[in-house]
Amino acid sequence: MKIVIAQMQHETNTFSPVPTPWEAFGNDGPFLGQAAYDAMKGTRLPMAAFIDLAEAAGAQIVTPVAAWANPSGPVDANAYERICAIITDAVAQGCDAVFLDLHGAMVVADRTDDGEGTLLEKIRAVAPRTPIAVSLDLHANVTERMVRNCDVIAGYKTYPHVDQYESGHLAGSTLLRMLQGKVKPVMAWGNRPLLAHTLRENTGERPMKDFVDAARAAQADGLLAATAFGGFQQADIHDAGISVVTVADGSREQAQRACDAILDVAWKLKEEFIYQGEPLEQALARARQMALDTGGPILLLDHADNCASGATQDTMYVLREALRMGLTDIGVGPVRDPHAVAEMIAAGVGAKITLSVGGRMDMPAVKRKGEPLVLSGVVRAITDGEYTITGPQFQGMRCYMGRTAVLDTGAAEIVITEKNQEPWDRGVFTSVGIDPTRKRFLLLKSRMYFRPVFLPIAKGHVFCDSFGVGMSDWTQFEYKNLRRPIYPLDAFPAGHR
Ligand SMILES: [Zn+2]
Repeated sequence: MKIVIAQMQHETNTFSPVPTPWEAFGNDGPFLGQAAYDAMKGTRLPMAAFIDLAEAAGAQIVTPVAAWANPSGPVDANAYERICAIITDAVAQGCDAVFLDLHGAMVVADRTDDGEGTLLEKIRAVAPRTPIAVSLDLHANVTERMVRNCDVIAGYKTYPHVDQYESGHLAGSTLLRMLQGKVKPVMAWGNRPLLAHTLRENTGERPMKDFVDAARAAQADGLLAATAFGGFQQADIHDAGISVVTVADGSREQAQRACDAILDVAWKLKEEFIYQGEPLEQALARARQMALDTGGPILLLDHADNCASGATQDTMYVLREALRMGLTDIGVGPVRDPHAVAEMIAAGVGAKITLSVGGRMDMPAVKRKGEPLVLSGVVRAITDGEYTITGPQFQGMRCYMGRTAVLDTGAAEIVITEKNQEPWDRGVFTSVGIDPTRKRFLLLKSRMYFRPVFLPIAKGHVFCDSFGVGMSDWTQFEYKNLRRPIYPLDAFPAGHR
């Protein structure tokens, strides 16, 4: 038995000005062949589960590519076609099954709004009868084309995502049982017109917990797999929003019934999927009081500039306001600014320097020009920006922030990087010599990944609403391709189903 195992992961924010070329994947381009195997084996990612399953089954394994990029703007068409060709070429050489570790929200510039569905179509074109298992992110914008062109779909059931391996394992093991003739997977898919806020998709609390629990219950009740997808909403595509995929053993009717029932759970809770914010000054004042009461660290969450939602990660609004209000002992990071990093490296560790930080990118989608902040401070550290995630999410993954420098202004120690990097691991601070547990405030450009990593060391957290292409106020974005009507952009009569 021979199995082709590949990864192609990108969450595309169609409003993001951050480009996504070939080099955005991996460290400097996707991992290919043996390098793909080496990069994935032993991690907690879906592709690692695929590899483990295939090896346990004694299968010959081909790993043509592992391509993972930070969320950003639409993927460059050439990069996409290259990744697709690498996968379809491997499949065309003959195999018994294909295991794919995909995100499910990839948009490709001038090509397709459905990168994954289009890839699956290309694979089906070269190998019409080869079974395909797919693992998807909880934030997948699932399309009918994806479901039509594969055999099994399973997605993450946690956000923050700490069950990526389990998702891959469920998809892969179900397909292996299909190959052994033990089950006959049949899928159903559906969605509801709901553009949920990712801030309200924490699977540890209502409403997302109820939505995911309904999928878990359906799975426990006899389905091969059931996934409640929160969707990715900063995407101006027809199918953005919540959806469900169910996989039944032989019965399409059973799959569809369960799919509809799970969707009803989300639709009934639609108001709760909408985040309610507060003015920035009020949020920071609350944080200041929390620090006085507890000593900190208090997390200041600059969620609008969260690069894991495709944001530029270089807006300075929250830090500017925090400094204006006199907050001190703030750990900040990371802020992406290659220019500032270069200036600080030229100055050297220990140098006193005054420079512009952040605000390098304009954000036409939210009608904002980049606004740098002029700061003076001491260059505390310069590193290569590399570290390995200690978990629990993305555990084992090697991370590359690009060259990285720390600016100490007295009130704030700011981690400044060449590349975008989600503060999803304490390594973003510890790798540059900052102990986040000793800070009064931690200003994180984070929406959700702070939860398993920084909440355990924090005395409190405050969402700081600001501007960025990751912001949660949908009325700031101009949707042209999204299906309408959709909640909350459009009103629905009470009791509407
Ligand atoms: Zn996600």
